[in-house]
Amino acid sequence: MKAIYPGSFDPITYGHVDIVKRATKIFGEITIVLMNNPRKNPLFSIDERFEMIKESVKDIKNVDVEIHKGLLVQYVKSSSAKVVIRGLRALEDFEYEFEMALTNRQMCPELEMAYLMTDLKYLFVSSSMVKEIAQFGGELKKWVPPIVEKALQKKFRQ
Ligand code: ADP
Repeated sequence: MKAIYPGSFDPITYGHVDIVKRATKIFGEITIVLMNNPRKNPLFSIDERFEMIKESVKDIKNVDVEIHKGLLVQYVKSSSAKVVIRGLRALEDFEYEFEMALTNRQMCPELEMAYLMTDLKYLFVSSSMVKEIAQFGGELKKWVPPIVEKALQKKFRQ
């Protein structure tokens, strides 16, 4: 079975990669769907984010990456995959995800959500956290793939 893993990935972190790896153990094929979250003002362009995702998951089998400009439910309706994966860290993730899942289900009843729990190592890893660390020149190696580390360092040097 095919599943969709949507997100804004600004930028992709090892927390996201961990969810992708877990998802491939359950689902046959994963499509990472890169979208713009209107609640967030991205640091990286969609093309930069796309390249970083592709490079970060290149060694994981049965994973591809697509860009989608629009609502998640529109993507789901046009796709043969009807399962959407999301990662969970803290309680605050749950509240946001719960609200989004119920709204999306009203628009697209065939959609099912599947939530995967993060690894303890990545409990506090978020795209915002790595951007903050990068801004102050902190150590990034543990949290993001090498291509993202370089891109973050370059962004904040400019
Ligand atoms: P969005 O803007 O759609 O929330 P994100 O790129 O921030 O996009 O996150 C995409 C998904 O990955 C979300 O379900 C989020 O909870 C999950 N995620 C982000 N960081 C982690 C992490 N460290 N561990 C597990 N899941 C994570």
